[in-house]
Amino acid sequence: MHAKTLTGLVIFVLSLGGGAEEQVPGNSVLGRQNHIEYVPGNLPLVIAVPHGGRLKPGEIPDRVNGVTDIDANTQELARTLSAVVHAETGRHAHLVVCRLHRSKLDANRDLAEGAQGSEIAMQAWEEHHRFIEQACEEAVRKFGVAFLIDLHGHGHPDARVELGYVQSALDLADCEDALNAASAVNTSSLRWIVERSDLSHVELLHGPLSLGALLEKEGFPSTPSPRMPVPTEPFFRGGYTIQRHCQSDKNVTGLQIEANRPRLRDTAENRLRFARALVKSLQTFFPAHLGMTLGGEPRLKGELSLQTRMPSGQ
Ligand SMILES: [Zn+2]
Repeated sequence: MHAKTLTGLVIFVLSLGGGAEEQVPGNSVLGRQNHIEYVPGNLPLVIAVPHGGRLKPGEIPDRVNGVTDIDANTQELARTLSAVVHAETGRHAHLVVCRLHRSKLDANRDLAEGAQGSEIAMQAWEEHHRFIEQACEEAVRKFGVAFLIDLHGHGHPDARVELGYVQSALDLADCEDALNAASAVNTSSLRWIVERSDLSHVELLHGPLSLGALLEKEGFPSTPSPRMPVPTEPFFRGGYTIQRHCQSDKNVTGLQIEANRPRLRDTAENRLRFARALVKSLQTFFPAHLGMTLGGEPRLKGELSLQTRMPSGQ
């Protein structure tokens, strides 16, 4: 099984302008020294997982500043999520996996903090973000928009899913007018949606059709959500990857998802349960806010406004 999987992998050396035509949805492409893996997709969904890697090559010195702990089981969670998306849609999400352990590279920090001067780590960092860009560009080319999920695991005392739209707990505690003001929307990873939606930023953050509301309906406590519009601290608002790639003028939106460990990513069974809940939530979220199904099928305008105007999503 292992050998067969390896045979299927395409070893791909990054070169300027090359390679795109060789890529087949669902077939892994590996960066140099196999540190970064990209599974090209044919959906508007892009999943990145920067902190679930386990490789500790000796030629990369250990990072000396910042967090160096793995987000346990998040690589497995991302692969399970991809598999459930494929089972539901018959198509592949784009998946970008940093296979390096976080003690060697933090791909969700800027280059200086993430790679801390190692040439090899810097190269992997560049590849990680180039693959995300390539995936988003491909999604935008086909569907007009890319929805990026940067997937993490947190160890905060409150076991809930944290949804990072680049709005801190303090930002989310602000009044509705402030959250709906251009200054807040311009920093939000949901900006692309806000600019096209009948719904306000606040409604998208924690209204009845927010991702938090949908996940809670599937049995996973989440914040922000109608139940908990303002997260308790500590709370992760969304880091480097989401801030860099979710740009409205590039037609990229999305969020950072921080998964709790107990009852979610601790066992294979729980990871599958969460992956199914998240996919089901996205199957409502996409038609409501992106104008298409999770499978990328366009929604008629009438259907869309009917969907977004549902009074409570019940
Ligand atoms: Zn993380």
